[in-house]
Amino acid sequence: MTNPLLAAWDTPFKLPPFAEISDDDFEPAVREAMAQARAAIAAISENSDAPTFANTIDTLEQADENLGRVLSVFYNLAGADSSETREKLQRVFSPLLAEYSSDISMNAALFARIDSVWNNRKSFDLTDEQLRVLELTRRGFVRSGAQLSGDARDQHRAVKARLAVLGTEFSQNLLADERDWFLPLSDDDLAGLPEFVVATARAAGVEKKANGPVVTLSRSLIVPFLQFSERRDLRQLAYEAWVARGANGGKTDNRKITSETLKLRETRAQLLGYDNFAAYKLETEMAKIPEAVRELLMSVWDKAKPAAEADAAILESMMLKDGVNGPLEAWDWRYYSEKRRLAEHDLDEAELKPYFQLDRMIEASFDCAYRLFGLEAKPLNVPLYHPDCRAWEISRNGVHVAVFIGDYFARGSKRSGAWCSAMRSQKKLGGEVRPIVVNVCNFAKPSAGEPALLSYDDARTLFHEFGHALHQMLSDVTYESVSGTSVSRDFVELPSQLFEHWLEVPEVLEKHALHAVTGAPIPRALLDRLLAAQTYNMGFSTVEYVASALVDLDFHNGDAPVDTMARQDEILASIGMPHAIRMRHATPGFAHVFSGDGYSSAYYSYMWSEVMDADAFLAFEEAGDPFDSETAKRLEKFILSTGGSQDSEELYLQFRGRMPKVDALLKGRGLV
Ligand SMILES: [Zn+2]
Repeated sequence: MTNPLLAAWDTPFKLPPFAEISDDDFEPAVREAMAQARAAIAAISENSDAPTFANTIDTLEQADENLGRVLSVFYNLAGADSSETREKLQRVFSPLLAEYSSDISMNAALFARIDSVWNNRKSFDLTDEQLRVLELTRRGFVRSGAQLSGDARDQHRAVKARLAVLGTEFSQNLLADERDWFLPLSDDDLAGLPEFVVATARAAGVEKKANGPVVTLSRSLIVPFLQFSERRDLRQLAYEAWVARGANGGKTDNRKITSETLKLRETRAQLLGYDNFAAYKLETEMAKIPEAVRELLMSVWDKAKPAAEADAAILESMMLKDGVNGPLEAWDWRYYSEKRRLAEHDLDEAELKPYFQLDRMIEASFDCAYRLFGLEAKPLNVPLYHPDCRAWEISRNGVHVAVFIGDYFARGSKRSGAWCSAMRSQKKLGGEVRPIVVNVCNFAKPSAGEPALLSYDDARTLFHEFGHALHQMLSDVTYESVSGTSVSRDFVELPSQLFEHWLEVPEVLEKHALHAVTGAPIPRALLDRLLAAQTYNMGFSTVEYVASALVDLDFHNGDAPVDTMARQDEILASIGMPHAIRMRHATPGFAHVFSGDGYSSAYYSYMWSEVMDADAFLAFEEAGDPFDSETAKRLEKFILSTGGSQDSEELYLQFRGRMPKVDALLKGRGLV
């Protein structure tokens, strides 16, 4: 029987045939597709014709088409719906893929051809996009060690292979710690919890087969628990378990993995001729050098820290009034902050919650995409990889644009956080291919028959991920390697963070924030209070984020630390980290940085992008209409459709005419 992963997908929109795929199909499919890709690449490097763009770069872009197709299905499932079998497969695939990519980047004959095309580029009459693809391809090879030889070459290969294994182990350990821990709650333990938190805790208890409500380490449950639980002892217990993920000793402990990872990254950077990993990594980002990152982070830190300290003093005095002796601890912050929010802004999460129905917020995101870009969404009834997933066809003026899959609810088999991935990317080389885009979130799943309700933060997350999805769906390039979100890391959060701004446009919520029981729109007074409170607690969230970003940067800038935990403490002490705030991601659970290379020494990217998104939304405000069609057209033309086909800074300049300063960000966060 043919492997369904390798067969032609004769399905609506050529979606993966999820119903036919079994876990047994993945390994043979990956091995077969990898062999095909190796053969295709060998044919390029052994070609006796003189190197041209078409016979080298075009063919290279297409060499691993099947492998990419199989892997994107697998890694989507491994992230969103894992199992022991899939985890085992990840452990099989990661060294295999590291070896495969090393073989390609170390293929001297292949690199010689690419280099020759680069040197003769003027003779090929290339489009701007082709020139860019050529430049990025060559740069990618050089940065992957194509110019190394002898011992350095072998060492580089070994380091890369080991890093791949460590990244997989790190993620799996974290997932195991998240999955294993839960705290059963007796009736007494529910003190202070509003009904929606109790309902979430009960649903989690069913999933854990615990015979009653439980707290888990899922953000959508633990955060509201910390906000509302009157039981300081339980808040402490849950908080400490939350931040201890990956640091519990035994088989799933990540601490040694982080030290080894940093050392190997340093070795890799030095083999390639850089002082350290941050210098290597940032070279291809907008920021270019570690100093530019530090300058941004510290200019924000200097404003955020005093704001957080002033907040801490107020919260501590509230706690003392409660008869609890200080100091204010990390497990107290959210609880007293919620009380203060209620007192100062008359804003109660439990009052807001019924207005944020998941389905209405999905509609709100679609509605904004329609008003800005003319995109329409129509539900699709197709087999998907999990019963919780839903799909829509996205079209414009009757023309198919993309398939969009939403996978919104938390479950034990899903890694934490929220993300957007393309199960298939847009491209035109070899025929137009339209994307399949997936948004994965971890919203609390309601009990059967109840509507799913979000917090305002959840709704923001939904808009954020949909912003990434737009970047994929509106992509209009020829080459897959520069399609959609294939841009520098510190630019990639611009479309996502920018889209969050439309959630704050009052008419959007007035239309879509409808009460789950009565159907009434959110009252204007409540909406005003909600929007007025947007910068509430911003000192706290800025401090926890910037601390993480500074630790990440310092880990990779300078000598790799022998003991990451000790180094983390040193860095935090050096910036005077407030006592009751911890890093947003403690090192042993810092998946952005240690699950792979994506955000390593680049966790600052969100803030770098925020400088731009604050300024980009201002362009709509200056036009006098948050849905101004001319500005939306420019946004699509210069940013959402272009992927990485041009340099990020140039794209932004074309959209806005100038680069932004940090002021718009500080103002947006209420820190000036
Ligand atoms: Zn994002």
